[in-house]
Amino acid sequence: MIEFAAVSKKYSTDAFALRDVSLNIGKGELVFLAGPSGAGKSTLLKMIAAVERPTSGRVIVNGHDIGKLKRAGVPFLRRNLGLIFQQQRLLNDRSILANVMLSLLVTGASSSEAGQRARAALDKVGLLDRAHAHPMELSGGEQQRVAVARAIVNRPQIILADEPTANLDRAAADRVIDALRAFNSVGVTCMISTHDDTVLGAAGRVIRLEQGQIAGGAQ
Ligand code: ADP
Ligand code: ADP
Repeated sequence: MIEFAAVSKKYSTDAFALRDVSLNIGKGELVFLAGPSGAGKSTLLKMIAAVERPTSGRVIVNGHDIGKLKRAGVPFLRRNLGLIFQQQRLLNDRSILANVMLSLLVTGASSSEAGQRARAALDKVGLLDRAHAHPMELSGGEQQRVAVARAIVNRPQIILADEPTANLDRAAADRVIDALRAFNSVGVTCMISTHDDTVLGAAGRVIRLEQGQIAGGAQ
């Protein structure tokens, strides 16, 4: 489902952000991308979403060759991706329900369908009882779970979560990871980056990056 073949990435003329990375991720896998800050984790995830392109090598996602993908093809790729970032941009002028519904409304869903599916997604992350709260009223961990609900509500095949537990305490971090695991257990391929090895837990494959290179777990 996701394949990197000898991928390198340079942002400028100096150092490599990623160097000769090869890996394969199959449908339904749960993969943690571990490594210290600056190791290249964000760069790797951004390439899967065609936010960045490889300098050399090949990245294939759901059959799309990212290096050759035309601008017009990017929305088709992203339709099957749920993206969660460290700083998720929730809209503060509306409820979390409205925030989650928005991802559906932009794809043409009716408001009754969007409302029903957004409620179901909030229920899955344990926030249905807060549906009418605004983002600012929630804790950081709750806001991250809203971001998980927003990422999943379009039923993507792949979820990419870039440091979703950064700045959260242990209990809140565990709840975010548990929410992601729950979607993985119904078949969604999940990649979760973290610089914090305590997040890794028992289940799940760990791919480790160090200074832009694979240090374990790629095959
Ligand atoms: P991580 O997510 O593991 O912290 P990143 O992928 O963000 O690592 O960064 C990998 C390397 O690439 C770092 O040295 C970083 O400074 C560099 N880098 C990341 N993004 C850019 C950019 N937009 N322009 C230039 N250098 C960048
Ligand atoms: P509904 O059928 O009302 O959408 P579900 O209980 O089937 O309710 O799912 C609740 C939410 O969780 C859905 O909106 C969907 O986005 C997400 N979801 C559930 N299962 C999957 C799955 N296999 N893949 C992606 N998303 C899923």
